[in-house]
Amino acid sequence: MTFPLKGSRTTALALLLLSCVVCVLAARDFRSLWTPDRVVSAPGFRQEMLSRYFEALKGTPLDTPVFVQEGAEPGGTLFVLGGTHPNEPAGYLTAVTLLENVRVTKGRLLVVPFGNASGFTHNQPQEASPQRISFPLPGGGVRTFRYGSRDINNIVMWPIPDIYIHKASGQALAGNESKNLNRAYPGDPEGTPAEKLAFGIMELLRKEKVDLAFDLHEASPEYPVVDAIVAHEKSMELAAAAAMDLKEQGIEVRLEPSPKNLRGLSHREWGDGTDALPILVEVANPSQGRLRGRTDEALVLTGKDKAYLLASRLGRLFVPYDEKGKPIEERVGRDLATLKAFLDAQELFDEEKAVRLEGIPGYREVQEKGLGAFLKPLPAGR
Ligand SMILES: [Zn+2]
Repeated sequence: MTFPLKGSRTTALALLLLSCVVCVLAARDFRSLWTPDRVVSAPGFRQEMLSRYFEALKGTPLDTPVFVQEGAEPGGTLFVLGGTHPNEPAGYLTAVTLLENVRVTKGRLLVVPFGNASGFTHNQPQEASPQRISFPLPGGGVRTFRYGSRDINNIVMWPIPDIYIHKASGQALAGNESKNLNRAYPGDPEGTPAEKLAFGIMELLRKEKVDLAFDLHEASPEYPVVDAIVAHEKSMELAAAAAMDLKEQGIEVRLEPSPKNLRGLSHREWGDGTDALPILVEVANPSQGRLRGRTDEALVLTGKDKAYLLASRLGRLFVPYDEKGKPIEERVGRDLATLKAFLDAQELFDEEKAVRLEGIPGYREVQEKGLGAFLKPLPAGR
């Protein structure tokens, strides 16, 4: 079947020109996602790169900054990883908030805010998620962060197998999971980009002799492991003390053991393959969920969604949910309070390995003042 072409050469040229303009604008937009988000680290931090611990990452889109601050008093080493999944912003914004606000007085702090750097360079297909989220600053100005995908970018890692076999265990998962950093541990120095990145993080944990290690995530309110701490058996005693502390503060939290037969995840492999006590924190975020409606910046920032309100009334959610939604301030505040509770517990359990941080914003403080109050203005210029 053929369609008679209406119009003239002029119309054809105009359409061609229009499609070129659309391509150029789209290309500029996609390209802009490759510019890393800037951070303003607090005094006392120095910046390294992950490739310092695993040379093969150097010059690749997988390499990512590692910020280090040492306190005057010797103590333990704390590691905080944000951005394993760049579509879970509370994780990387908690890491950035720490980085921009805290002073280490005892022990050492290592922060990797954008763990899966290439995941920040694209969006998850068919999720209609925003490309960026912004926070107004109290003194004027705005801080903007990319909102990425949970996967390593296809440009960096291709082709994808139909079935992903986790090398260390033979566990079989859907092929897409091969691009998921949090299924790739303990990694492989000769493996796929995801396995190399995971190996680099394992090397950091080993070479820096990390004592306590956090991997910060978000998940759907209809997912059972949410507003939860997932702890390796080595970390469980400490995690139980931290969970009790949080409950005393009125912050409800679920405590979940890391399953021994689910492989490739940070809370399992960091504990099995390094001396660190690993903790994964999962906070409830409706913009992750399958029930959500329109997915835009407002949903990511406020967590307000009519469908989740209905689901909550029908008793389908694993966390309390009402008209207030799940604002990013509550989610970041929860992460910060959890970190603080672990540090306090560590101080009681093993003072030699304690890490003391001054200036961690409080759970209620972040909600009262807004996250922008804890983000610093960017210095002028690039
Ligand atoms: Zn996640």
